[in-house]
Amino acid sequence: MGPAPTPAPLIFIVSGPGGVGKGTIVNALVERDPRLWLSRSWTTREQRPGEADAAYVFTDRAAFEARIATGGFLEWTEFLGNYYGTPTPDPRAGRDVVLEIEVDGARQVKAVHPEAILIFVLPPSRDEQQRRLRGRGDSEHKVAERLQKALDEEPVGMALADHVVVNDDLERTVQEMVDIIGRHRISV
Ligand code: 5GP
Repeated sequence: MGPAPTPAPLIFIVSGPGGVGKGTIVNALVERDPRLWLSRSWTTREQRPGEADAAYVFTDRAAFEARIATGGFLEWTEFLGNYYGTPTPDPRAGRDVVLEIEVDGARQVKAVHPEAILIFVLPPSRDEQQRRLRGRGDSEHKVAERLQKALDEEPVGMALADHVVVNDDLERTVQEMVDIIGRHRISV
């Protein structure tokens, strides 16, 4: 008999309406827990001023569509006029996968991997959510569009979620998610 096979990685999906602070949360999570592997998505959206180069693989529609055609995405969707997609994950052995994606992508991942764990993040208040959406430097039109999209996404995400977390305080929220992840690791 050879060595015991490495267990399949757990998949943690972090989703939630725009302006809820998902990006900040997942960055803090992977910093805290080196066993987590954060997937980097592809997008056709333009890079925002001040946005890290590593936030996404920024690409164009032709390259994105070529990757769709070769089956290179675990999931992809069109969100407010741009493509976003998760390349088929390839974590090193022993690491668990974190996907920070919107609800249509979360639904697709759950269809392929029903064991994936969806943590849905809610804003502490609409005011705070609007403040965060405005703070990105998008135009008023874009902010209004994203706010409406966020309102539409919430009930869908809540219905799919395994856990719902309110991001009232970053440190507390990250700790709650570390605890959730720890409990799932024990129970596999
Ligand atoms: P943003 O333009 O604000 O960076 O992202 C817009 C939305 O797309 C956010 O809800 C974000 O979580 C989501 N998103 C980012 N990457 C992906 C992805 O690979 N797939 C899907 N389905 N959504 C994504």
